[in-house]
Amino acid sequence: MRFHHLLKSRDVSTEKSWRQFKPHKKSPPQNLNKRALVIAVPPTGLSALTTSFPMNQPLVFEPLFKERVWGGRRMETLYGKRLPPGDRIGESWELVDREEAQSVVHEGDLRGATLHELWTKHRDAVFGADLPDTERFPLLFKILDAQERLSVQVHPPATVAARLGGEPKTEMWYLLDTLLDSDLYAGLKAGVTRQQFEEALAEGRVADLIHQIPARAGDALFIPSGRIHAIGAGNLIFEVQQNSDTTYRVFDWLRLGLDGVPRELHVSKSLESINFEDPEPTMTEPHGEVVVECADFRVEKWTLTKPRNSHESGFAAFIVLEGEVECIGRPFKPGEFFLTPASLSDRELKPRNGAATVLRTTIPRS
Ligand SMILES: [Zn+2]
Repeated sequence: MRFHHLLKSRDVSTEKSWRQFKPHKKSPPQNLNKRALVIAVPPTGLSALTTSFPMNQPLVFEPLFKERVWGGRRMETLYGKRLPPGDRIGESWELVDREEAQSVVHEGDLRGATLHELWTKHRDAVFGADLPDTERFPLLFKILDAQERLSVQVHPPATVAARLGGEPKTEMWYLLDTLLDSDLYAGLKAGVTRQQFEEALAEGRVADLIHQIPARAGDALFIPSGRIHAIGAGNLIFEVQQNSDTTYRVFDWLRLGLDGVPRELHVSKSLESINFEDPEPTMTEPHGEVVVECADFRVEKWTLTKPRNSHESGFAAFIVLEGEVECIGRPFKPGEFFLTPASLSDRELKPRNGAATVLRTTIPRS
């Protein structure tokens, strides 16, 4: 509680506490020039892309930063990411293929190509064969910085999504960093009925009925569609999710949005989506290296003490957790995200300075 209070006000003491995170080395300044160049590149030249296979470098994408009412500056203070000016950067979309948001390759021969182009025109070379034949790349990867807690929300299960005009979204949170007293909220407390939930919702005290789980760095939580959830204050999270942006907001802790008015709630759609038979879920129990495996994604945690191939077939997506890894001469630091494409000429990931830990995501093959 003492901690939540501290986070609510952006006063001097709050600023000080955030600065205690030791920043990693800043990215080299020439990145800025590169960024400017990306904008100047004309719509690619897909014919030019065909000359780039097989590929001789991992794929690095330009992150898309999003301001959020609950966000902060921690990706800058902890990872040295070059955040846009403004106050509260809550999300970094590391890899996304949606109509309203596109990841763009940031480095190398494919610079300027969008994820959608890679998915539709070069799928086999970049992602490998046997993937589900979807219109868009099926996953979305984000880093979330919750300086304050997020709204209580739910995503519709496949069985009701179409009827409600939305898309299902199963997701996984990996806790990159937490603060003392950070919590996650997931599922309902044991014994809570739909009727009790609706009454509490009407009276603004629904928070009491949601299961609260202490958060520790290194833990992971699986959130299937239909599970009510909220990210508590102080959590820095790597999120893997189905490519969907359908979120039904159940409760926003009685606060105001960035524009000073309460954000919209979607109570009736939420009630249709919430699984009321889902009491008190726990953090996932890793099975060996596997953190989470479901129909949509498989997430593994690798501790590298010697070189190891990123993948045998298909592709893999990585975020560095600790230490540094190198792939064809390109070093990656904690918080950096990259993709090793199917046609990569050399797939060896090498830990630098002894050891490194990475989170690796793949899509289960049909
Ligand atoms: Zn969610």
